[in-house]
Amino acid sequence: MKRVAIYPGSFDPPTNGHLDLIERGSKIFDELIVAILRNPEKDPLFSVNERRQMLESMTAGFENVSVDTFHGLTVDYALRVEAQAILRGIRAISDYEYELQMALMNRKLQPGLETVFMMPAAKYSYLSSRLVREVAQLGGPVECLVPELVVRKLREKMDVANKFSNADAGVSEPEARAADRAAAERKIKSRKKKS
Ligand code: ADP
Repeated sequence: MKRVAIYPGSFDPPTNGHLDLIERGSKIFDELIVAILRNPEKDPLFSVNERRQMLESMTAGFENVSVDTFHGLTVDYALRVEAQAILRGIRAISDYEYELQMALMNRKLQPGLETVFMMPAAKYSYLSSRLVREVAQLGGPVECLVPELVVRKLREKMDVANKFSNADAGVSEPEARAADRAAAERKIKSRKKKS
């Protein structure tokens, strides 16, 4: 029998940690379906289509990995695609409690379906989509955290967001940067005066 697993998640955006897990999962399952949850309650940075495109490019080299989207219960989706397992990642103890709860709930809903946990390489154990979004939004480097294609997509998003917020404030991008610099210099000067 073909061993099929789904790897469900938000992937907003997909990171090197996700990719690490996909690679590990692709080695132990015959078929791995990366399944993006369409959650209308969340306000994502990337649309489902954008996330799908990024994941498809990232996983193009894996013959037994495909990308799909779903909504509703994960167990119902797993049943529909005839998967026997749900793959999830555990980074630190902090992930464990929530993941355990979810795995046990899924087992109650669908006893035949197993949840398989895998750990990423240690260097990705601190990495989350939320952290990547925050670093990118504050203009920090994300090159080692996500694939090159995601770096580009994040930059595009941030450029658009900056344009809108500066336009709202009625200032151009160079003016906004000059104002930030002047404010920082004023702060340093006033600190020097005090000391
Ligand atoms: P969700 O909203 O379902 O947690 P995520 O995209 O954040 O969606 O995560 C999907 C799955 O990938 C989860 O099992 C999560 O623990 C795992 N994961 C996320 N980041 C990493 C990482 N850096 N290393 C390993 N697993 C990860």
